[in-house]
Amino acid sequence: MKFIFADSLDYVDPAFDFIADRSPAERQPYWDDAYPHEILGYAPYDGVLVSRGIVGDHRVKGKYTASQARRFHLVGVRKFLRLDKPEFAHLDIFGDCGAFTYVQEERPPYSPAEMVEFYDECGFTHGCSVDHIIFDFDPAGKAREGGSDHAKTRFDITLENADAFFREARAIDAGFTPLGVIQGWSPGSMAEAARRLVAMGYDYLALGGMVPLKSPEIKLCLEAIRAAVPSATRLHILGFAKADDIDSFHGYDIASFDTTSPLIRAFKDAKQNYYLPGEGLGLRYFTSIRVPQAIENPKLQRGVKKGMFRAEELIRLEALALDSLRAFDRGEAELEDTLHNVLVYSAPLVEEKPYEDCKGSVSLTRLAQRYRATLAEQPWKQCSCKICRDAAIDVIIFRGSNRNKRRGIHNLAVYQDHIERLDLKRAVD
Ligand SMILES: [Zn+2]
Repeated sequence: MKFIFADSLDYVDPAFDFIADRSPAERQPYWDDAYPHEILGYAPYDGVLVSRGIVGDHRVKGKYTASQARRFHLVGVRKFLRLDKPEFAHLDIFGDCGAFTYVQEERPPYSPAEMVEFYDECGFTHGCSVDHIIFDFDPAGKAREGGSDHAKTRFDITLENADAFFREARAIDAGFTPLGVIQGWSPGSMAEAARRLVAMGYDYLALGGMVPLKSPEIKLCLEAIRAAVPSATRLHILGFAKADDIDSFHGYDIASFDTTSPLIRAFKDAKQNYYLPGEGLGLRYFTSIRVPQAIENPKLQRGVKKGMFRAEELIRLEALALDSLRAFDRGEAELEDTLHNVLVYSAPLVEEKPYEDCKGSVSLTRLAQRYRATLAEQPWKQCSCKICRDAAIDVIIFRGSNRNKRRGIHNLAVYQDHIERLDLKRAVD
């Protein structure tokens, strides 16, 4: 099973100074920054997925700057991602249309021929057909039963595009493997779409629109699709947000999936921000310790404007929390004293009150429990990845993109190991 990382310019500055809390003045993002496979010294994934919607153009505003998008077209995806070295030659590079970026449009802004040309010219190894997201979902729907007119229109558009996409890729003898994207409003309609894609000639299908679905619903879809296609047909899950549940998807014969989940959770999840391998085949999670910049955090700034806190006092508490955490890491501070200093600075954030006025509150007590677990375990000392060795306790501090994304990249490495252990176990079973 291949773990494909969906990139959206997730790089960090290797020269970032954690103590001074800044990058060198001459830093040029992209050029000086390091992708996960650069900062770790190896690729923590089997491939990368780039959405056309992230690259962007005159129709869809992407995440790339105009000059980055130009460079992408000029040098191709492999060189742009700096995956053009021999040690990365085995990595797959998937492309999709980024259907979420045009979900509001009546039709996708790209023609099948245009996407074939894009994938081929930019050097993708795999390219997804031009789909249109269907949001309705009826877990009991059989075949083409049910479905709104809106859903049916999008179902037809997706299949017509897939047919034209496959023919065009054949006609120009494209250098990438075409994937036919499945969109449907029910397991039955998805199975029907899959059956038709196979009839068009596809042997690799990508299941789209899974982002809002829960694991049991995704399984219903996979079950219906698997029953409708030959066993040799490979399946990919697009935007697999339930990546940590992957073990329970054993049996559906998934060839590959793409996700950003391990990276994103480093800074978007309320509790599970730092991964470690767990007992047996599981994962363990730790809460990162929030020490935001007093002068930049909107919530703290509001408190200052309202006259609840003095800016100088917040800056003092922030420095005290950071200094205590570093002293703790060196073995020069006690856990409870460190935790106390962190919580005193957390109170204005969590309760918008001074610590003395809310120290017994439910949220602060819960936070204290999670932080205590993180500090007691010191998980950053249990990881030998380059990021944890170099950043030490800073990897677990929730503060700015350079710490948060480093933690996310560490998670990618732990997650890749997790997938490899699961595959090994299956090979033995
Ligand atoms: Zn690590």
